[in-house]
Amino acid sequence: MKTTAGKTSEQWYLKEIAAAREVFWLNPRLQKGISDRSLRLNARDVQDAERRLLRFAPYMAKAFPETKNAGGIIESSLVPVPKMQEEIERLYGQEIIGRLYVKCDSHLPVAGSIKARGGIYAVLKIAEDLAVNNKMLKKTDDYSVLDSDAFKRFFSLHTIVVGSTGNLGLSVGIAGARLGFKVIVHMSSEAKEWKKELLRTQGVVVVEHDADYTRAVEEGRKQSQKDPRSFFIDDENSPDLFLGYSVAAGRLARQLAELKITVDDEHPLFVYLPCGVGGGPGGVTFGLKLLFEDNVHCFFAEPTHSPAMLIGLLTGLHDAVSVYDFGLDNITEADGLAVARASGFVSKMMECMLSGVYTVEDSRLYLLLKTLADSERIFLEPSALAGFYGPARLFSSPAGREYLERHNLKGRMANAVHLAWATGGGMVPREVMDRFYEKGEGGNIRYQAK
Ligand SMILES: *Cc1c(COP(=O)(O)O)cnc(C)c1O
Repeated sequence: MKTTAGKTSEQWYLKEIAAAREVFWLNPRLQKGISDRSLRLNARDVQDAERRLLRFAPYMAKAFPETKNAGGIIESSLVPVPKMQEEIERLYGQEIIGRLYVKCDSHLPVAGSIKARGGIYAVLKIAEDLAVNNKMLKKTDDYSVLDSDAFKRFFSLHTIVVGSTGNLGLSVGIAGARLGFKVIVHMSSEAKEWKKELLRTQGVVVVEHDADYTRAVEEGRKQSQKDPRSFFIDDENSPDLFLGYSVAAGRLARQLAELKITVDDEHPLFVYLPCGVGGGPGGVTFGLKLLFEDNVHCFFAEPTHSPAMLIGLLTGLHDAVSVYDFGLDNITEADGLAVARASGFVSKMMECMLSGVYTVEDSRLYLLLKTLADSERIFLEPSALAGFYGPARLFSSPAGREYLERHNLKGRMANAVHLAWATGGGMVPREVMDRFYEKGEGGNIRYQAK
């Protein structure tokens, strides 16, 4: 590698990416500050989403009793993982300066993945719009009335359609079916059998495609357009999904404050987010940049075989380019990240605020899965481990070190917090998790059932 800016480096990266080798790439278009005036969404949109979730809290507490203790709010814990930090340092022979934490969206109630934020929010918004427009509901009402036969009958006249690699279908399916909607999920070829089965038991129609995620979304969109009573949740272009995810930022800020963790000029926050089409990590990044501006540094993690967001940002072509154009096959064990073409809307939003993107080989995900299970007793699905590789790479890769230098962070890293965003795993059946774990060690199961 010569430099990280300019043509030489761009060509070097493209060659490495096409060869499915791991890279750590810095976004040359990252801007100081965040001016949401030039963006399609702003801080007020995030607040509006937060208020909508608050209106639904009484409904959620009633319809999903597992959210009752949290007052009907779907939220996950933020936990320090010092033993995992030591293990990562040992695995990669690289000291990680600062403290490692994990955001456990893997264990979000209702859907067990980060999709419990965006997917459920998008469903609730459809329900609210329908009920309010039909004068069945006022925004000042107690929304627990939605959990009634009258509303279920009303919602059952409408269909929600979504395309998914698995987890989005799970979250939309579970929430939509509970409200009474007909839900049709178009699953791409990666989707795991247990996710499809679980949805069928909820009365969701699962359409299986022997094709990738982009095609599954396309088929869903086409089918939905034929029916005027059908709503399509468009993961490739949905401000609603994005805003549902963005609400995580304010919640995280409160959790950091509770743990007495400061984020300011002297205390940088590094966040590592597994990325598929971009909505989940993009929404979280947007929310965090609005709150912490230049003191938060967000990096996306993608499989070496599916670096859709990386090539979209690197080439500036966003959704006009796919990993197939580089001869990559989009085949990865990280099913939640198996996306060949990024969301154009999210990719454009990220252009000015994302610090960089790195890629990860599949084999590392299983080793990290086992390591996290052994050291911290936290069990994730393979996609969700991609974030844990980031801190090691920040310090070990030339581009990572250049980032610290360029942003004058080297002397401040002792105060840094590294946050791996754990995006899924809470609903994985025990037998499936056992197999994941075995792949990480190629041997015996050592952990105890929780
Ligand atoms: C969906 C998903 C992601 C990424 O979210 P996108 O919105 O597709 O970028 C990451 N991890 C898991 C486990 C997911 O299900």
